[in-house]
Amino acid sequence: MAANAAILPVAAAARDNEPSSLTPAEAQARARATVTAMRQDEKTILTIGIMPVPLGSNPIHVPTDAVPGAGYIAGITRLGVPALRETDASLGVAWAGGARKDGATALPSGLAMASTWNPDLLRRGGAMIGAEARAKGFNVLLAGGANLTRDPRNGRTFEYLAEDPLLTGVLVGNAIAGIQSNNIISTIKHMALNGQETGRQFADVKISDAAARESDLLAFKIGIEIGQPGAVMCAYNRVLGQQACESDYLLNQVLKRDWRYPGFVMSDWGAVRNLSAAINGLDQQSGSQLDPAPFFGKPLAEAASRDRAYAARLDDMNVRILTAIYANGLDRNPANPGGRIDFAANAAVAEEMARQGIVLLRNRADALPLARDAERILVVGGNANIGVLSGAGSSQVHGEGGPVGTVSMVRQDAMFSNFLAQQYQGNAPLDAIRKAAANAAVTFRSGAHVSEAVEQAKRADVVVLFVNSWSSEGFDQPDLTLPYGQDALIEAVAAANPATIVVLQTGNPVVMPWLEKTAAVVQAWYPGSRGAEAIASVLFGETNPSGRLPITFPRSEDQLPRPSIDGFDWVEPGFIGSPPKADSRLVADYDIEGSDIGYRWFARKGEKALFPFGYGLSYTTFASAGLTISGLRAEFTLSNTGKRAGAMVGQVYLLSRNGSPKQRLVGFRRVELRPGETKKVVVEIDPRLLADWQDGRWVMASGTYQFALGENAEALGAPLNVRYPGRSWKD
Ligand code: BGC
Repeated sequence: MAANAAILPVAAAARDNEPSSLTPAEAQARARATVTAMRQDEKTILTIGIMPVPLGSNPIHVPTDAVPGAGYIAGITRLGVPALRETDASLGVAWAGGARKDGATALPSGLAMASTWNPDLLRRGGAMIGAEARAKGFNVLLAGGANLTRDPRNGRTFEYLAEDPLLTGVLVGNAIAGIQSNNIISTIKHMALNGQETGRQFADVKISDAAARESDLLAFKIGIEIGQPGAVMCAYNRVLGQQACESDYLLNQVLKRDWRYPGFVMSDWGAVRNLSAAINGLDQQSGSQLDPAPFFGKPLAEAASRDRAYAARLDDMNVRILTAIYANGLDRNPANPGGRIDFAANAAVAEEMARQGIVLLRNRADALPLARDAERILVVGGNANIGVLSGAGSSQVHGEGGPVGTVSMVRQDAMFSNFLAQQYQGNAPLDAIRKAAANAAVTFRSGAHVSEAVEQAKRADVVVLFVNSWSSEGFDQPDLTLPYGQDALIEAVAAANPATIVVLQTGNPVVMPWLEKTAAVVQAWYPGSRGAEAIASVLFGETNPSGRLPITFPRSEDQLPRPSIDGFDWVEPGFIGSPPKADSRLVADYDIEGSDIGYRWFARKGEKALFPFGYGLSYTTFASAGLTISGLRAEFTLSNTGKRAGAMVGQVYLLSRNGSPKQRLVGFRRVELRPGETKKVVVEIDPRLLADWQDGRWVMASGTYQFALGENAEALGAPLNVRYPGRSWKD
């Protein structure tokens, strides 16, 4: 009791005199003191949560202080430890199938956000989400999706950011820092190598330690360094034969030993199979009613009472969870439901993200921007008369009133039916186009019948043709074509009217057999609640497009490391993704590409992309020049050589080491430039991007490293040779 008496006054005094959050070391010291004060029966309170929504035919009891959302973990009032109220939040505060009957601001998809290459904007986006979540009473955000796009057919590609570890790590770290600026915890997820949805609970990733550390794990490491997330969410899949949520390699060796991560690991929902996951590094069982048993409740308490290893782990689990709580000031700044949300200000953030995230892929003879005085504009397809498309699954965000249009994909009474529908949000692009071109005659046809669209296209001055490809958590894309015959629709409409502008709303890259026949192609991704306005603003030139691709667009699937997603031919698609039989085996062989994901794979194979990583057009022109590198400091200039203000992303690539080709993005910077303006840019190169992971260390061989500025991963400037001494270091 003495320790107890000592800790309580400190906590109380802290409310008045101390800053709202503590350094990790201070937080950890306080966490240890709290654990010393815990009664034995209190030690499993923080280690297990529920999903506080009615699910299935036998709903659990939902405590009155829970907020409907993804998760709830009871607090320990006696010790001043708050309950943890969790919501999904990568793209905004998730809608949770409408469980709360409230609305939130929907940012564009992760891919759209990454296309901005703008860490500051992702930080603003994170701060916005965090503030909305806090106002709804949430204090833990399941955000920070950092899985690399190993295969663009992965159904969650839209939620994640990029194929590159530097771009992903920097962007996700900033988004997390933005969220946590609200005195709440963010996760980074899903650790790790969660590269496909097919058989997502049992796909078993085969990869060497070196390849993992140089790719997916590096993205997580950089994200953790920048964002310092209070929690890490482990993944559904298996890695090297172990479930990721009970992987000693990922959780104990990499995260906790090598990276000295002080926060806690929470499971993904329905990802825990055994109590022994605790020994292998899992600290908290989430949404436990989805697992076979509440392992981290009574069974853990019993194991701790008879086994010293479990007892020690139980204390460590509490220290880690409390460290995250204290480091982010959750106890001193309670998040209570009913807070005020400035939806107008937040819509401006969503719109800015969409404007900067839209990528102009093609613009034949300056077809764009459209003249505002065009006489006859035909808008076709994409349900552009309803709203903008969004991706589905747990990350789904909606405004008040839910989706503005829904195409059901499963029976309405099926479990998770609200999570698995094609849902539209925001305003209708058709209305935004009508507003922007007030004097034009703007007509709309659905595109359901090609003949009708063709007939109307012949009468129009310009056609804006929306095409959609829906993606969802739980399902991969069979290939990179547009579904529902939309390729044929584009072919026919573009043949009828060469002034056809294609607007893509997709969650992944698509192949474009019709490309040369179109006047322009705009990649709008899933553009979020202000997507319609952002699209119109790009089409009519109010916004000068500045998005750059964060993933490679292949010419065909043949260019990818594997012919199709592993298991796609025999695993029955389904949201849960569990093995059909207890002993079903599904190996995802990531040793094929190793750490050479996306553009690095293309460079290794000498393949040319349809649109390369880093690519994007603008309504002005740019030049980059004068690359010098001194040590790890790269300097160069970026200039706007055209007539309109715009933004350019300077990209620095490693090309080779001692004559062996090895392409890697080593630095980038987005810069706004007035016409005729030149700016000097400095980027620091992270030496891990120059090194290999060998026997538990980063190793840089001595010798000549060749770099170049790139407009994108394939349009590279003059090479620059830099000599480095050999060195090696621990992570
Ligand atoms: C997803 C996670 C999500 C969790 C809680 C799972 O299906 O994989 O990303 O945070 O559900 O909703």
